[in-house]
Amino acid sequence: MLPSLRRFPVRASDALPRGLALLGATGSIGTQTLEVARLFPERLRVCALTANGNWEGLAEQARVFCPDLVAIADGRGYAPLKDALAGTGIRVVAGEEGLAEAATLDAVETVVAAVIGFAGLRPTLAAIRAGKTIALANKEALVVAGALVERLVREAETVLLPIDSEHSALFQCLVGEDTGAIETLHLTASGGPFRLRPTETFNDITPSEALAHPNWSMGAKITVDSATMMNKGLEVIEAHWLFGVAPEQIEVVLHPQSIIHSLVTFRDGSTKAQLGVPDMKVPIQYALSFPDRWPAPHARVDWRTLSRLDFEPPDPARFPCLGLAYDALRQGGLAPAVLNAANEAAVALFLQGYARFTDIPRLIEAALGETPPGDADDLDTLAAADAAARAAVEVRAGALAS
Ligand code: NDP
Ligand code: MG
Repeated sequence: MLPSLRRFPVRASDALPRGLALLGATGSIGTQTLEVARLFPERLRVCALTANGNWEGLAEQARVFCPDLVAIADGRGYAPLKDALAGTGIRVVAGEEGLAEAATLDAVETVVAAVIGFAGLRPTLAAIRAGKTIALANKEALVVAGALVERLVREAETVLLPIDSEHSALFQCLVGEDTGAIETLHLTASGGPFRLRPTETFNDITPSEALAHPNWSMGAKITVDSATMMNKGLEVIEAHWLFGVAPEQIEVVLHPQSIIHSLVTFRDGSTKAQLGVPDMKVPIQYALSFPDRWPAPHARVDWRTLSRLDFEPPDPARFPCLGLAYDALRQGGLAPAVLNAANEAAVALFLQGYARFTDIPRLIEAALGETPPGDADDLDTLAAADAAARAAVEVRAGALAS
């Protein structure tokens, strides 16, 4: 059982319909969350929606779901969004404060944290402080600020439920168990598009090749993270904070079919796994329905035709980002925040054509070597470390390119 779930009521409130604030509504997780909400109009009520710049998409969603409030992070979208929703009675707000307002509305019981990257941290912290149940997709928030998030969740006596499919799988295996009984958490990974590609051609990998994931359809940043396996590295750190286990107890295994979403081996030698067709709507729904399970038409595995499930250990030379994430977790302090910031910056540069695929781990490793001392329990210190690591990556990438 998650440490936070052992101490507190399972949700902020059991009342249905459950009020939702959806941070990052226009993204991959956001739109799939709305597909789930559409299945359960009597159980879920969308109270707030947010986006960054995509005001057109946000306006369209708002017209369908009629939330109380919409928030657009990039202020340039405020006027056109307000115009688009004129006469609907939906309140429109903007900026960082607007996102925090969406995350803390009285009518909201669960905040779905589905902004990408460090940008999701502040509104998630605001939601925790307000005592909301957190359905967390934004793994970067936990990677950067695990100690802070853990402390605030404890102080607010609220709960944080995972949406990430591997962590939802681990959580489903752990319901009713004690974390003290865990021997090993096995995070499964598809291996992404480059599991079999000759490594001597990795310098030539293009953004469109990295964006072609074999099993999952996701936003651009996490898709590149899956290709480098930094996504799995971030998930190792996420699992550490969610389940309170040591780095040595978290193991990654390649499983190209993505049917087993993760496994737990217990001290008595028994292993539990959670399986299903790769579809994020299932873990999203579980975080929204927990502790119940709601009947839904999501695709089922056909056990009569599934003929094999394969496993292999990841090759550390092929996927250096995975080792860098373990290093950062062991190093502690601000190292995970630096790892995350350097990765976000390096992936953005790669997608824009300013860095090669193979530069991503190099830039991260160099940034980690410059991790400043400091307290990872303080948001201002974390934000300063994040900004400094991004700036250093940009300077270094410029030097690599010239
Ligand atoms: P997307 O890039 O598809 O969507 C990101 C969302 O966040 C969009 O709504 C975007 O708005 C908004 N956003 C982006 N930048 C900012 C910002 N600076 N301030 C406020 N809002 C912002 O991402 P995904 O849905 O793929 O991923 C979301 C999170 O879920 C990530 O942390 C990812 O690691 C995690 N996750 C995703 C999975 C998936 O299947 N996609 C699986 C497991 C975890 P706009 O559209 O206006 O740009
Ligand atoms: Mg995942």
